Order: sequence, then structure tokens, then C-alpha cells
Amino acid sequence: MKKSIIVLLAVCSALCMCACGSSSKKLVMATNAAFPPYESVEGDKIVGIDPEIAQLIADDLGMELVIEDMAFDSIIAAVQSGKADIAMAGMTVTEDRKENINFSDPYTTAAQVILVKNTSTVKTPDDLANLTVGVQIGTTGDIYAEDIEGATIERYSKYFEAINALAQGKIDAVIVDREPGKVFVSENPDLVMIDEEFTVEEYAIGVSKENTELLNNINASLKKLKESGKIDEIIGKYIKAE
Ligand code: GLN
Repeated sequence: MKKSIIVLLAVCSALCMCACGSSSKKLVMATNAAFPPYESVEGDKIVGIDPEIAQLIADDLGMELVIEDMAFDSIIAAVQSGKADIAMAGMTVTEDRKENINFSDPYTTAAQVILVKNTSTVKTPDDLANLTVGVQIGTTGDIYAEDIEGATIERYSKYFEAINALAQGKIDAVIVDREPGKVFVSENPDLVMIDEEFTVEEYAIGVSKENTELLNNINASLKKLKESGKIDEIIGKYIKAE
């Protein structure tokens, strides 16, 4: 009797271990889902280029993707503290950020652009001198705005607040990433994008400095996804060539 109970217990725990083992490890992605076409909320889902690429990486690594939506300037801290495993938010690789997190190989290039009202006299980045420029706090747009001579910087926690302020004439310009900028212009007929790009940048996936194994795995996945054309396919779905 005793023996059979022990056998039963052994079988139970083996079954349990199998069941537990089959639920794969989570890959928690920190993002700010107000940055179309890279990430935005659609119904109860977060959609866009970044979640789609992250899903393919998670599939390749046999992990379950979980997306956490938060303020852009909380993302790096979330990865550093282990609250999230990866930062994926149209996040530009910068030397300053590299002091706090590691970056994967880049998965796309991007640019900062200037949005103004269609009645504005601003035609080039130099014209921004002494004007009031809106940015989303903690972004590369925020960093570049600091270099504009005599400019007053208005920092918003969300891009769409900066866009509303611009549409209402409260500020003179917004510095934002090119593709989200195009989306914001398409939604606001009074706004236009200045042709000349401010900068050229690269987006990559942020990973904790402590998690080099994950970083290496992500880079290996990204390499495969680039070579198979999957990354271009996803980007092409959201960004139409001009
Ligand atoms: N690419 C910009 C940055 O990394 C903006 C990203 C964002 O607002 N999601 O700072």
C-alpha cells in the first residue's frame, strides 16, 4: 500500500513537471503603444511592426510573448529592474542608453523629422531657432531639441499631446520619428512634415546588461529573420514605399 502511494506520487510529480515544462518561458516586452506604425492599441490588442517582430523572435526562441504598455521614459528602467526582458518601442540606439542597457543588432533605420502647421514659415531645421518645440519626454527628439539655438522645449508625456498642442497653435513645431510623424500628419490635415530630416538613427531591441544569453539569442533570431526576408515583409506591410 505504502509503496503504491509512493509510485502514485512519483507519477503525479512527473506529470506535473511535464505539464509545467510545456508552458514556455515568458518574454516580457516593454513598449509604449502610442507610436504607430511601430506599436499602437487596436481594440484590446497591441499591434504594429515591433510586436510582430517580437512575436517571431519569441516563436523562434520557444517563448511566450507578453507585452507591457508603459510610458516611454519608464521602459529602460523596466528592463534594468527585470520587470521586462526586452525594450522594443521604436527605440533608437544611443551612447547614453548603452550605459544602462545593451542593444541588439539594429532591425531598421529611422529618422527624426519636424512637424509644423501648414501655415508655418519653418522650412528647415535651422528655422527652429528661438521657437517653441514640442517633444515626447525622454526621446531622441527631446535630446536633439536641446541643441536648437534659443528654442523653448515643451516636454509631453505622450506624442499625441504634443501633436494636439501643435494643432492648437500652442507650440511652433514637434520633433518626432519619421513614420509616426507621417501617421500624425495623415490624421491632422493642418499639419505638414518638413522634408529635410533632422538625423538618421537605428532602432534596436534593448536587453538588460545582465542577460547576455538572451541578447545573443535575439541577435541569432534577428539574423535569421533578416536573411529570410521576414523583417522586410513586416515593415513593408506597415510602411509603404514612396
Ligand atoms: N526613437 C525615439 C527614441 O528612441 C522615440 C521612440 C518612441 O517615442 N517610442 O527616443
